Amino acid sequence: MAVPLHQSIRIGSYIVRQHLSGNKRYPLVLMMEPLFRCNLTCAGCGKIDYPDAILNSRISVADALASIDECPAPVVVLAGGEPLLHREMDQIVEGALARGKIVFVCTNALLLEKKLDSFKPHKNFTWTVHLDGNREDHDRAVSREGTFDQAVSAIKAAKARGFQVNINCTLFNNADAERMAEFFDYTKTIGIGGITLSPGYAYERAPDTEHFLNRRATKELFRKLFRLGKGKKWEFTQSSLFMDFLAGNQTYQCTPWGNPTRNVFGWQRPCYLLGEGYAKTYKELMEETNWDSYGTGKYEKCADCMVHSGYEATAVTDTISHPLKAALVALRGPRTEGPFAPDLPLDNQRPAIDNYDELMAKNLEMLHTEGRTNNLHRVSQGN
Ligand code: SF4
Repeated sequence: MAVPLHQSIRIGSYIVRQHLSGNKRYPLVLMMEPLFRCNLTCAGCGKIDYPDAILNSRISVADALASIDECPAPVVVLAGGEPLLHREMDQIVEGALARGKIVFVCTNALLLEKKLDSFKPHKNFTWTVHLDGNREDHDRAVSREGTFDQAVSAIKAAKARGFQVNINCTLFNNADAERMAEFFDYTKTIGIGGITLSPGYAYERAPDTEHFLNRRATKELFRKLFRLGKGKKWEFTQSSLFMDFLAGNQTYQCTPWGNPTRNVFGWQRPCYLLGEGYAKTYKELMEETNWDSYGTGKYEKCADCMVHSGYEATAVTDTISHPLKAALVALRGPRTEGPFAPDLPLDNQRPAIDNYDELMAKNLEMLHTEGRTNNLHRVSQGN
């Protein structure tokens, strides 16, 4: 795993403490979306078709830090929308680092070079740049030419200033394993510290829902990719058992509370991907969400999901319970031949509920009631 040793120790000791105290549900990563506004309109994104009143809303520094204080997760991921469109992102990062958190900012890097002066390198701070493949694949995925070159230029500038830089790579069903393998080789030449891999999740509201992977296709694609990666020492940021899960060698249920999500509406139920309601506080989210009604085989919207925000926490728990198994997978890489581990049955899942319009009406009312749509500032790419 491409995680620095001091961070692995910090996360590992937090997990062991949670286990020793008998805590059944605990968070690993706080996903914070301080705004939904983005300066790209990717075809696979399910977060950018909100009305302007929502896209212009953002979490203040004080609210962001209060949420970071509420949630004990050792890792804070700042995403969006595009987090660098938030004018006070540097203060949120600084505040999170001052609280001893391990901080990642997920950015498309269009504004990164311009904003670098506002940030300082820190052993617990990493830029995670969205790159979905080589020039052609990435520019197609984000629906804009030139984005790959801009991102690579920003990565080089950030590296030159001493920042740690990872990439976040989402694979869709049109991904070509050979081209992805070449791309991973290339990332090593520009000093990428680690790769976070994810199969694309079929957001209902994404403009293009045709290119998301189902479970079988996900496993086949990752097996092919890992076969091509044998001996290449690609550095992934996720646990060895999560990679093994992607290759179809583990039967895992989702752990949605592992990555609680805070956005402009509050704490999102049940996860980063599904918006099925919001809690006002982290405590309310953890205590009042019906967690057992989400996950593989439990809910139609979860049927094809294998993303890290749901299953990495499961893999980490399995690593604590079976360290030898995890170590062997880390040493040998995920198995890429032979039968797949059985899938959890999908025959009893509850049907998907279409609650988008109802939720949006509630969210808009809440933003108006709290006066948060009155003092919004418009954000442009040039901010
Ligand atoms: S399976 Fe995926 S979509 Fe469903 S709760 Fe887990 S992370 Fe969310």
